[in-house]
Amino acid sequence: MSRSLDYDVVIAGGGMVGAALACALGDSHLRVALIEGTPLARIRPDIEIDLRVSAITCASQRLFVAVGAWEAMTAWRVSPFRDMRVWDATGPGRIHFDSAAIGEPLLGWIIENRVIQYTLLERAPALANVDLLCPAALSLVTLRDDAVHVQLDDDRAFHTRLLVGADGAGSRVRRWSDIRTEGWSYDQKAVVATVSTEKFHAETAWQRFLPTGPLAFLPLHDGRCSIVWSTTPAQADHLLQLDEDDFALELAEAFDWRLGDVTGITARGAFPLRLQHARTYVKPRVALIGDAAHVVHPLAGQGVNLGLMDAAALAEVLLDASAADKDIGSLKVLRRYERWRRGENLLMLGVLDGFKRLFGSTLTPVRLLRNLGLSATDAAVPIKNLLARRAMGLSGDLPRLARGSHG
Ligand SMILES: Cc1cc2nc3c(=O)[nH]c(=O)nc-3n(C[C@H](O)[C@H](O)[C@H](O)COP(=O)(O)OP(=O)(O)OC[C@H]3O[C@@H](n4cnc5c(N)ncnc54)[C@H](O)[C@@H]3O)c2cc1C
Repeated sequence: MSRSLDYDVVIAGGGMVGAALACALGDSHLRVALIEGTPLARIRPDIEIDLRVSAITCASQRLFVAVGAWEAMTAWRVSPFRDMRVWDATGPGRIHFDSAAIGEPLLGWIIENRVIQYTLLERAPALANVDLLCPAALSLVTLRDDAVHVQLDDDRAFHTRLLVGADGAGSRVRRWSDIRTEGWSYDQKAVVATVSTEKFHAETAWQRFLPTGPLAFLPLHDGRCSIVWSTTPAQADHLLQLDEDDFALELAEAFDWRLGDVTGITARGAFPLRLQHARTYVKPRVALIGDAAHVVHPLAGQGVNLGLMDAAALAEVLLDASAADKDIGSLKVLRRYERWRRGENLLMLGVLDGFKRLFGSTLTPVRLLRNLGLSATDAAVPIKNLLARRAMGLSGDLPRLARGSHG
């Protein structure tokens, strides 16, 4: 490998996924730069809970353990959940996932995005081969046969063997590399907030499917819940404008008073929802990971988990190639990553899109079928447990770093 280049891998975007990749490449022979535009001080988890949280699977948690970030995350705040209850507002269909039934202590964790991102960004520069450039933003990229020339907005510039786009759904790396996407808007927005409820959340992730979209209550460590209410843009705008009491009332009603009265609403935010998939994840000297490669509906809390598995898989491919003295930016090497992850992600994109359509339909036959289907799956214990293990990341073609000590 030529030593004339400044870096072997430059990662554009130190979100949860890009920062995880930097950590996963830590303590190797590869020289890595991680570039993040938002200053660290603005990401630091403060007293108030981040409006954006993620349901983290066991596979993702194992990755955090393997890269040495889990302990710091738990020192901030993580909330385990042991049960999941999903039901349909238009009929009797319901399903209950119980960790004890599949012989696991829990189903996953609810963790604030900022806690995940910050601990990984703190961990990365502690690794001898990783430079964290933050705040810094990529302003121009020039692809060449043997290297990529990367320019930052502060006029720093360098050459790298591989550029990884981990710069989110609107990825500039993807555009600079002329990689197209396919997908569509769901014509929905997700309203998020942190709320208190009259009844304890019981370490359970709750989700009610309304005709306008799913409403989730996710358990937090301090007894509160983080809500994700996917609905029409018009209703989302209406919900954002309501005063606290009226919002609390509409929320409790939409949730069928399952956790009683809702109080103590924090600030609210809303995110437009879409499905988006890059036509290819790789080009010579470029790879895409996380939301830069795929964006899914949040109804099953899989988005960042897919991205974290991209990061673990790409790290494994690059480390194997480097150990075999291969060019880590070559299409031949990068194709292994794409073959591994594009199929897995496509499957999940299809399943989540199918769920979204199934539960969004008001047609009576569809409504009846989905209610029957939910209850039938609930009763078919082996199938239900299989589904749960897959969603928790306990099965499937997992990268080494996500297999844990059992791998
Ligand atoms: C309402 C909602 C709820 C969700 N809930 C869940 C859930 O429960 N579980 C789950 O798994 N997923 C969930 N997701 C999805 C999850 O949030 C995303 O998949 C995840 O944030 C993607 O992470 P990322 O690191 O790929 O991209 P991003 O989070 O978008 O990070 C990209 C980073 O790149 C930086 N950047 C961008 N451009 C540049 C540049 N030119 N130079 C330098 N830096 C740059 C940005 O500052 C940012 O930090 C949810 C999404 C939504 C909208």
